[in-house]
Amino acid sequence: MPIDPHFVPLLAAPTATARQAVTYARSRNARRIDAVEAFAAELWRVGTACGYDPAVVFAQFCDETGVGTSDAWATRLNPGGIGITDGEDQGIAFASGEQAARAMLVHLSAYVRGYDPGLWQHLHLDPRYLLVLEAGLGQSVRVLADLGNGRWATNPAYATQIAGHLERLRLSAEDLQPLDPAKPPRDIVWEGTTNFHRRPPGVVPEAIVYHITNDRSYANVASWFRNPASRASSHFVIDRDGTIHQFVSTRDAAWTNGDISAPRQDLPWLAGAITKIRREGGNLNDLSVTIETVGVPGEPVTLAQQDALVAITRYLLATYPSILPRRGRMLRHADINSTSRSYCPGAAFPLREIIRAVGGDPNDLS
Ligand SMILES: [Zn+2]
Repeated sequence: MPIDPHFVPLLAAPTATARQAVTYARSRNARRIDAVEAFAAELWRVGTACGYDPAVVFAQFCDETGVGTSDAWATRLNPGGIGITDGEDQGIAFASGEQAARAMLVHLSAYVRGYDPGLWQHLHLDPRYLLVLEAGLGQSVRVLADLGNGRWATNPAYATQIAGHLERLRLSAEDLQPLDPAKPPRDIVWEGTTNFHRRPPGVVPEAIVYHITNDRSYANVASWFRNPASRASSHFVIDRDGTIHQFVSTRDAAWTNGDISAPRQDLPWLAGAITKIRREGGNLNDLSVTIETVGVPGEPVTLAQQDALVAITRYLLATYPSILPRRGRMLRHADINSTSRSYCPGAAFPLREIIRAVGGDPNDLS
C-alpha cells in the first residue's frame, strides 16, 4: 500500500538506513555518488541526533534532484532548491555532501521547529532560514503532507511524490544486487495483436520512441491496439501500477511511429533515417521500439511507471546494442511528429531521468 504522507512525521527515529538510501540512489544512477554517500551519512548522523527521520529528508532530496540526477545536484551539490529564487537561478553551491545535508536540515528545521538549538552552528548555510520564520511558517510542518500547501512547495503532488521515494528507499536492500542485463526486468505480460509487420530482413531497432497514451485507462488502450481497424499498436504499454504489457515482439515492427510530420531537424540519426525513408521507402517503425505509458500529458508518470520505464529501457539497450543510450536515439513521439503529436509524451515525461538512469547521456543528440 502506498505510504500516506499524512501519516509520516518529520520528527521520528530513522525508518530506513543510510545504506538503503545510497542503494536506492545507485539504482537510479545518481550522479556524484561519493557526495550522495557523504550526504546520507551526515543526514543520518546529524538528523538522527536532532530527532528528524533522515529517511524522509533523503526521500525529499530524491524528489528535488531526480534521485541525484539533476544538474543542480551534479554541479552545485544543491540538494533541494535551497536558495533558488527564480527560474534562472540554480541555487547556492555547497562544498560537500556533508554541507548539503546540514543546509537541508537547517531549512527543514525552520518549518518544523522554528529554531532548532541542535543546528545553530549550521544556520548560516541556508540564506532563506530567516525568511521562513518572517513569513510566519515556523513550526508549520509536523507531517510530510504539510510540506506542500505552499510551504516548501506549491506542487499538490509534492508530498505524494516524496512518499513514493520513501517507499522505494525502504524496500531497497542494504547492498545493490547487480542486474543481469540479459534477463527481462520483471514479468512482462504478453497481450499480442495482429497490428504489426515483420521488420525487413537484417533490420534491427536503432531507437526507442516514448509515448503517452493520452488516456488514463489501460483497458481502453489495450482494446484499441487489439482492434485491427485502429491500425495502431505498440511493443510495450506501461500501466499506472508499473505493469509492463507487450503487444508486439521486438523482432517485429509495431505501428506507432509512421506519422512523420515536421520532425526535429537537429537529431542526426532521425534526420538521416527520414531522408533514407523518403528516398527508398520503408517506415520509421522498422527501425524503432515503441513504449507507451498510460497517462495524460502534463501529469507526471507514477513512480512505478518510472521504475518500469527504466527497467524496460535497460533491457532493450542490453538486447540491442544497435540502440545507443543517448538522446539522439531515445526519442519523444513529438520529435517525429511535432504538428499533431506535440503533446506526446509531454513536458512532464521524465526522459532525461530515464536516459541518466540507464547510464546514457541526455544531452547527446547524435
Ligand atoms: Zn505518441
